Amino acid sequence: PKTTLTGHAILIGYGRVGGLVGTALKEAALPFLVIEDADKTLAKLKADNIETVAGNAANAEVFAAANPEGARRLILAIPNAFEAGQIVLRARAANPNINVIARAHSDAEVEHLKGLGADTVIMGEREIARGIVEEVLSNQAGQKPVRDAMAEGAGAAPIASQS
Ligand code: AMP
Repeated sequence: PKTTLTGHAILIGYGRVGGLVGTALKEAALPFLVIEDADKTLAKLKADNIETVAGNAANAEVFAAANPEGARRLILAIPNAFEAGQIVLRARAANPNINVIARAHSDAEVEHLKGLGADTVIMGEREIARGIVEEVLSNQAGQKPVRDAMAEGAGAAPIASQS
């Protein structure tokens, strides 16, 4: 069945990346639903009262059930940029105004996803490097190490810190 949500975010994938994003959306009281294809994750989402569409988001019927034409934002938190690219095309066809944020793991993937119409592409490895550099430079200045606020906020174990 198609969702009744409008003005919502469609979050695709609820693993290491999407799980943190979803927690933040929930805390900010922003309306969203999750498309996931892993049964275990779907069961956890249902237990947490988070609306889901079950299945592969690259499938036309599955994606349509998330009401892309009425959505405000599409967040692609899956690791496969080829699949993500197909979904970007489908989203743009359904809703030219939808804001698309995608995940990538190489410069080539960033270019690919931007070329297909993603508004913002976040490259995972670049963000890891940014975190490392921040940590090194803050230690260098004799300050307290920078804490990973996102991990703490989501209740995950904080990153190791030096005293
Ligand atoms: P992670 O790499 O840990 O952020 O996990 C990625 C998550 O996305 C996993 O929970 C996968 O089951 C989910 N996933 C990957 N590809 C798709 C897809 N095409 N449709 C729906 N869920 C997906």
